[in-house]
Amino acid sequence: MQEILNTEEHQLFRQSFKEFVKAEIVPKNEQWEKEGKVGRELYEKMGAMGFFGIHCPEELGGSNLDYSYARIINEELAAVGASGVATSLMAHMYLAMIYLQKSKNPKLFEQYLKPSMEGKLVGALAMTEPGAGSDLAAIISTAVKDGDDYIVNGSKTFITNGYYGDYMVAAVKTDPKAGGAGISMLVIDLDQPGISRTKLNKLGIHASDTAEIGMDNVRVPQSNLVGQEGMGFYFMMQNLTIERMGIVWGALGAMQFIFEKTLQYMQERAAFGKPINKFQALRHKIVDLMTEYEACKAFSDVTSYRMVKGEQVVKECSMLKIQSCELLNKVAYECLQMFGGYGFIEEYPIARAYRDARIQNIYGGTSEIMREIVAKLIFDGASYG
Ligand SMILES: Cc1cc2nc3c(=O)[nH]c(=O)nc-3n(C[C@H](O)[C@H](O)[C@H](O)COP(=O)(O)OP(=O)(O)OC[C@H]3O[C@@H](n4cnc5c(N)ncnc54)[C@H](O)[C@@H]3O)c2cc1C
Repeated sequence: MQEILNTEEHQLFRQSFKEFVKAEIVPKNEQWEKEGKVGRELYEKMGAMGFFGIHCPEELGGSNLDYSYARIINEELAAVGASGVATSLMAHMYLAMIYLQKSKNPKLFEQYLKPSMEGKLVGALAMTEPGAGSDLAAIISTAVKDGDDYIVNGSKTFITNGYYGDYMVAAVKTDPKAGGAGISMLVIDLDQPGISRTKLNKLGIHASDTAEIGMDNVRVPQSNLVGQEGMGFYFMMQNLTIERMGIVWGALGAMQFIFEKTLQYMQERAAFGKPINKFQALRHKIVDLMTEYEACKAFSDVTSYRMVKGEQVVKECSMLKIQSCELLNKVAYECLQMFGGYGFIEEYPIARAYRDARIQNIYGGTSEIMREIVAKLIFDGASYG
């Protein structure tokens, strides 16, 4: 696996990204959490360093690297406890930009993908609607042809980067009678007439902005269509594997962060005349959690390796999303307990890590939906190839 996941190039890339995160994100994370948004300057710096272009074609100025590098980016962002920032950056890079890349549409490349690579435009992916989240085929936003444009009506909700972002790749029905086969993806500017945005207040990942977006007779050029009409569901299903693996890598990075902070605290905090890391009940708890973490990490490494090699890993990726996100919540809960009352105080990073963990089992597909996917593969002979 080393030759696919951990070559000298990977190590150099990890080192350079780690240094970038330490210099540009760690000092600002607190401020962005309070402001409820990531500073635009971070996008521009990420762009200037070439990080947003790592998976983009070389002819556009990208590095055309595989997803083993996505693993590094997700792990390193989570490993400093910056889950809110990570959510925003990942929505731009792995949710919105991936669709633009796959569109193979020179106009979308020029108008949206290149400025996204440079961090000059920030993108969002808008699939979820107030009435349809898990059941994406049930979306009701429509795009109806009018001359060279579409007229779009409907609403989207829970959209990461939807409030401060510049454009969204939105799932809309171009043929409402055709169910999932009638869904298409359209790139829509967020400052257009007819667009309204409402910022949503969240339990955690505060640095990432999340919005409800209304679309009232929004005029969108037909040339903003990603691929062809009716391909939306296919695109969404294809891209969900990388979105979900991103969440898995993020969950593993977040656990690493929690363990690091907890071990340090257990060494420093004394009770009954000795550091609390001398109490067997607490030590054994940590040992059990770390054992589960190692098993999950090993499963993730094997699945990452297979995915990068081009194998179909829908089942394993879904299993991993359940395992890693549920384990992250367990780790956050149990480790917060090690901090006693201080664990409940905002200044302690464990408090934020605990809040931030909760979304992982929900977005990118809930744990229940992941179990449904795996069950259909096991029991019903379903195929997601
Ligand atoms: C902070 C945040 C950021 C997000 N970012 C984005 C984004 O950028 N873009 C985007 O498009 N979406 C985004 N989402 C939306 C997210 O993906 C959805 O919330 C999620 O998929 C669940 O959909 P829902 O909220 O409509 O829940 P529902 O589908 O209404 O589900 C409600 C409950 O029923 C369960 N359930 C539903 N169907 C079944 C079934 N068949 N079997 C068993 N249980 C079932 C679910 O697991 C859940 O527990 C975000 C959400 C949040 C909270």
